[in-house]
Amino acid sequence: RKSSVVNHTDGYKYRKVTQPKYTGPKEKATFVTLARNQDLYSLLGSIASIEDRFNGKFQYDWVFLNDEEFSSEFKRVTTAMVSGETKYGLVPEEHWSYPAWIDKERAAEVREEMREKKIIYGDSESYRHMCRYESGFFYRHELLKDYDWYWRVEPDTRIHCDVDYDVFKFMRDNGKKYGFTISLKEYIGTIETLWDTTKDFMKKNPSLVHPNNMMDFISDDNGVSYNLCHFWSNFEVGWLDLWRGESYSAYFDHLDHAGGFFYERWGDAPVHSIGAALFLDRSEIHHFGDLGYFHVPFHACPIDLNTRVENRCNCDPADDFTWKGYSCTSKFYTVSGKTRPVGWQMHAD
Ligand code: GDP
Ligand code: MN
Repeated sequence: RKSSVVNHTDGYKYRKVTQPKYTGPKEKATFVTLARNQDLYSLLGSIASIEDRFNGKFQYDWVFLNDEEFSSEFKRVTTAMVSGETKYGLVPEEHWSYPAWIDKERAAEVREEMREKKIIYGDSESYRHMCRYESGFFYRHELLKDYDWYWRVEPDTRIHCDVDYDVFKFMRDNGKKYGFTISLKEYIGTIETLWDTTKDFMKKNPSLVHPNNMMDFISDDNGVSYNLCHFWSNFEVGWLDLWRGESYSAYFDHLDHAGGFFYERWGDAPVHSIGAALFLDRSEIHHFGDLGYFHVPFHACPIDLNTRVENRCNCDPADDFTWKGYSCTSKFYTVSGKTRPVGWQMHAD
């Protein structure tokens, strides 16, 4: 390993180990993190795990987005952690505010009702702007313009295993456009009218829905009702043009005008998931079963011992959520015709 001697401000000399620069082929890809300045120290563990397990080898860029200016401390510390180039972007005001057609008083009343009903984040205004931003705007940020692929990373998350292959190249080579680690069911109280609004969109725009879509992942009755299954979007590896394309753009506009980001509490996870399920070819969605992943309160941990050993995973398969009843990943395997790992039944409850 290469190293260089660094004269530190404390007067001592330190030997700093530096990764050899990766010079192989690379995709136009970046990590992307939406965060506040106060998220810095909960974010560092997420970055360290990605860098140690994957990105130290490939050195992809990292785009940080915020609705306020990042502090110089945030920029210094994260730049030191990331092996690729780091970029810091401000979210434009028009992507983080009420559209003209939204009745703010009605939105405030809903927040009050949801506070009383104790719906998670139901009383939060900023959470709604965040969900709307992740649903319909992050991929339009000018810092993401020159990228084809993104990997979303949130504070307080981990990947548990070594990833020795280029995940973005894997996506391209295998014809994948959306990748997830964990799926589960949404709280109905946050999306009461999302499916009716979606059905209205499909009726008006039948040609925008992919003929070989994955409706059977999100509906158990051929589209009459939503089964609440969604990919957990705090982890995503995706193709940016999925969201920038005609179908999803029209879908997001339709949802945005319906107002449910503010009059309910529509999350970006069900919105992205319905988008991916309806507008992609069903073969283009990938479950990453080999990375291991954690975001409170769920772990994904490969249940196969060989996989954990080969990839040096530091997770307990007893904590794995993937095959549990409340997860939708088993359903994903059924509708995809994929084979579940041996012994999955023993992890089902
Ligand atoms: P949860 O995972 O649904 O509990 O929501 P989080 O609190 O983790 O928020 C989701 C993502 O959005 C994380 O990456 C947060 O750092 C980010 N985020 C949430 N609220 C805000 C906000 O008001 N401003 C900014 N800039 N980022 C936010
Ligand atoms: Mn989170």
